[in-house]
Amino acid sequence: MLTIAIQNGNVIDVRSKKIVKLNIGIQDGVIVQLSEMPLEATRVIDGTGLYVAPGFIDVHGHLDGYEYGGELSAMQGVTTTVGGNCGYCPVQLKEFFDEQDRRGYPINQAMLVGHDAPLREAVGLTDPHMLAEPEQIEQMKELARQALRDGACGVSFGLDYVPGCSIEEVKALASVCAEFGRICPVHTRLLVENDLYSLYEVIDVARQTGAHMLVSHFVYQYCNGMVPQAISMLEKARARGLKVEMDSGMYTNWSTYLNTTTFDLQNIQMNQWSWEQMVVGTGTYRGKVMTEELYHHMRAYHPNEAIVLFEGEEWEIYECLKLPYSMPSSDAGAYAVGEGHPQIAGTFPRYIREMVKERKLLTLEEAIYKGTLLPAEIFDFEKKGSIELGYDADLFLFDLDQIRDMAQYPHLGAPDAAPEGIPYVLVNGVLAVDEGICTHSRSGKCIRK
Ligand SMILES: [Zn+2]
Repeated sequence: MLTIAIQNGNVIDVRSKKIVKLNIGIQDGVIVQLSEMPLEATRVIDGTGLYVAPGFIDVHGHLDGYEYGGELSAMQGVTTTVGGNCGYCPVQLKEFFDEQDRRGYPINQAMLVGHDAPLREAVGLTDPHMLAEPEQIEQMKELARQALRDGACGVSFGLDYVPGCSIEEVKALASVCAEFGRICPVHTRLLVENDLYSLYEVIDVARQTGAHMLVSHFVYQYCNGMVPQAISMLEKARARGLKVEMDSGMYTNWSTYLNTTTFDLQNIQMNQWSWEQMVVGTGTYRGKVMTEELYHHMRAYHPNEAIVLFEGEEWEIYECLKLPYSMPSSDAGAYAVGEGHPQIAGTFPRYIREMVKERKLLTLEEAIYKGTLLPAEIFDFEKKGSIELGYDADLFLFDLDQIRDMAQYPHLGAPDAAPEGIPYVLVNGVLAVDEGICTHSRSGKCIRK
């Protein structure tokens, strides 16, 4: 007997980009039947009036094993997250993978090894302004190789946070990724707002090393009117055969920690950001709009809190996400209940609602493909991202009429409010969301490359 059957759903076949009426049979975490005939199972889910899609693969996250964030992702139909982004991986990968597999996690997890941490830290480059010596670069290359052997799916960079890093250092580590056929996501180095040289750097690394580069949270980097020009640079690089893609989110207003170089006073002044553009996302002052006094107080006494910076224009979001080589991503961080940025709970339902329903920029099949099979292929995750026989039973069911994000910015409401219209989510054949309720299941596995 099958463990779970999903009957009468409209199944989104992301490979053929067609919607088909099929019943899905699941056993031992795997899709074992796709049939027009009714199926018998211990649990039968009625998919009448619902779409059945492969679970989203969120290629840009910072959950890094944080449980609540995993549940917020699951509630959106995300069944796999990629952590260790923006040059920062806070864990030892080998131990992390073993520990997470022992404890279980709401969704599947893949990890990148971070350039800043652990690599730069491990060779003594603890100051982000320090330039690496040739020997240190050699040591970092060796450590990166070890991490890739331990199962990291690539090396991530957060060049904004490491002003002292030379392009030689990036190329050296990208070459290591190229050796392994793995990916290099880059949070680009914006010296000032509107800095397109930062994108040129990434393209140049792809050209000189042959590495597969991914520009992280593209709209966060190039909003404020630069998106069309930034896209045309990427298109030219791709037309020359370089492997460069992007992931991008559903908001222009990004968030990072107050203690980063991004929020150094000098950088704030250089970018001409006003205090009113900043809202505190976490901690005692959550929801407060920044003032000069609060900024100095928080830098001194609350440096680890997240700040949301408001900038850019909404149309820039859609320019990025309608491209055939862009993938939707959340940039979700590890925040406590009631805190953070709405991207942690709203990104994916908002993506479907805006891109498919409201603006009709993508067909439903194309939109789902860009968040499932496309990332599975780019990251080379086997048996993921599609509803096919023998594939992992990572799925979600949604009501296209009802689907909507409810998460708000911290000064307006709850950033972690769960979306509506997603009644069922399965991770490796186990219900992580059942009738719209989080089951607190822990069926996610680590994806070791
Ligand atoms: Zn980033």
